[in-house]
Amino acid sequence: LSGEAITASQIDNLSSHFPLCMKNLHASLRRDKHLRHFGRLQYGLFLKGLGLSIDEALIFWRQSFSKFTDDQFSKEYRYNIRHSYGLQGAGRNYKPYSCQQILMEHPPGAGDSHGCPYRHFSIENLTVAMGRLMGVEDRSVVNGVKQDVEAKKYHLACNRVFEYLHEKELKKKEGGAGKETITHPNEYFDRSWGLKN
Ligand code: SF4
Repeated sequence: LSGEAITASQIDNLSSHFPLCMKNLHASLRRDKHLRHFGRLQYGLFLKGLGLSIDEALIFWRQSFSKFTDDQFSKEYRYNIRHSYGLQGAGRNYKPYSCQQILMEHPPGAGDSHGCPYRHFSIENLTVAMGRLMGVEDRSVVNGVKQDVEAKKYHLACNRVFEYLHEKELKKKEGGAGKETITHPNEYFDRSWGLKN
């Protein structure tokens, strides 16, 4: 899939390959029919990195923000979405955020859905989110994640979950050796997609 164009209607299905940060944003968007500024930026740039064109991005966000009228959407959100594709304002072509940026910049406040759940959620909320959004309930994995988080090794927690979810394919396709650690949400997606397809 990497490098190919994707459409707005594919995103629900593709979300099975998302890391926890993006699954959380997707679930919040579906629940609230809205995301706040940094959530839109973090998730929107990730989707752009997946190959979502500006036209498809506008369709996706318009449909997702279903509680707003066309007029509200055009006035409040259209510009920002076009801006993130470098089509408004200074024309800067923004890149999807790396884990490092997500971990370090703009920590989420109350009511925000962006950030890295391994770093920004309480352990209780993280445990619930891993179960609900990733289907990870295996006690040894959950305990391993807790240890990683306590040691402030957040991306190792994310890689631990990736390896657990792709255990069989990793053994088959990558000889079980495991490549380098994933350090970017788009890399998480690409590897997950590549292993399952
Ligand atoms: Fe997302 Fe990176 Fe955190 Fe994983 S470690 S949840 S990819 S920000």
